[in-house]
Amino acid sequence: MSNLDRQAALAVCGGRGFVVAEPVRELLSPRRVQLGESTQVRRLLPNLGRRMVGAWAFVDHYGPDDIADEPGMQVPPHPHMGLQTVSWLHEGEVLHRDSTGSLQTIRPRELGLMTSGRAISHSEESPRPHARFLHGAQLWVALPDAHRHVEPHFQHHAELPLVTAPGLTATVILGTLDGAASPGTTYSPLVGADLALTAGTETNLPLDPDFEYAVLSMSGEAHVDGVPVLPGSMLYLGCGRTELPLRAVSDAGLMLLGGEPFEEEIVMWWNFVGRTDEEIRQAREDWMSGSRFGEVKGYDGDRLGAPEVPATQLKARGRVR
Ligand code: MN
Repeated sequence: MSNLDRQAALAVCGGRGFVVAEPVRELLSPRRVQLGESTQVRRLLPNLGRRMVGAWAFVDHYGPDDIADEPGMQVPPHPHMGLQTVSWLHEGEVLHRDSTGSLQTIRPRELGLMTSGRAISHSEESPRPHARFLHGAQLWVALPDAHRHVEPHFQHHAELPLVTAPGLTATVILGTLDGAASPGTTYSPLVGADLALTAGTETNLPLDPDFEYAVLSMSGEAHVDGVPVLPGSMLYLGCGRTELPLRAVSDAGLMLLGGEPFEEEIVMWWNFVGRTDEEIRQAREDWMSGSRFGEVKGYDGDRLGAPEVPATQLKARGRVR
């Protein structure tokens, strides 16, 4: 998915100053963002109160939307730099194309993992025909400096490890949970897991005290560490936890996001993660001039133009909310 905001706001993030070293319960409200003509998403990261959770730097939750008579998701070719994108669906399907030649339909509970490295471009669309409902999340992981210039590549994993307890099925999307590791390539210690809870379940999920965590609710009614988290909201949990109490009032779908606090300060603008103002401006120029980001073949439509970069210098400062 792309940040299609025409007035793309600058997000300066990262750095120890943002990280809460102890358990907290901080409820983050979504911001509604229009994505193209037909899709509205709820943006949880970056959020006014919090920019990152570990290396997770961007979280959009969308649907469930009835797209039976709609085109559904139509995100034209656009570039990425310095990040990985994670596509995660609960309903429907997304057809992914990218400049490395990938053409892949992503279905519910399959991992679509795109590592942009130094430069990639991709499109995402609801295939024709498509399922009636579309429901999912789109997330970005910031790449650490040592790996942010890697060759772009795309991975699709239909089989992912499960961690189970009575009433809980956790699918390990990325990283490691309770010793179970996703086959997706990671570049910093982190975890992303889908938590499916049946009504009435009370359980404790094992956590790594060195990670900071947040839980996104995708469906149902669940309490996370005693806090009711409604679909489309996210609870930031801080660090220093060895377990997380979960209680499902109804059947519920949650997403656990966590990771080692991301030490580096980054500049995030539009679809790029960089370190300096110059890098971001160069990336925009390269996209607009048609160089470096390659070509997406087969998408029926024009590629996305980049918004204007703010006139003021973009600085990688990390300690201001
Ligand atoms: Mn994208």
